[in-house]
Amino acid sequence: MDSAMIGKIQKAKEYAEQPELMQFKSFDVHFQGENSAHTVSYHEGAWNCECGFFQSRGFCSHTMALERVLGKMLKSSDSAE
Ligand SMILES: [Zn+2]
Repeated sequence: MDSAMIGKIQKAKEYAEQPELMQFKSFDVHFQGENSAHTVSYHEGAWNCECGFFQSRGFCSHTMALERVLGKMLKSSDSAE
């Protein structure tokens, strides 16, 4: 392995310990819940889920679970733009 490659791998390890450097812009997730599957989407800080609870409240167990898993990689909804 050449030295440039070794340097890139080392940098990747350092970056991987700093998830706050990475911000998701948008994605879709297939979420297999206990009773049924849902598609959860995220775009520029806004969640969407096709489940009934989300439709009435604007959040749900699926979006909250993803927030816990993805943590710092999500744009904080209470941070000023
Ligand atoms: Zn949901």
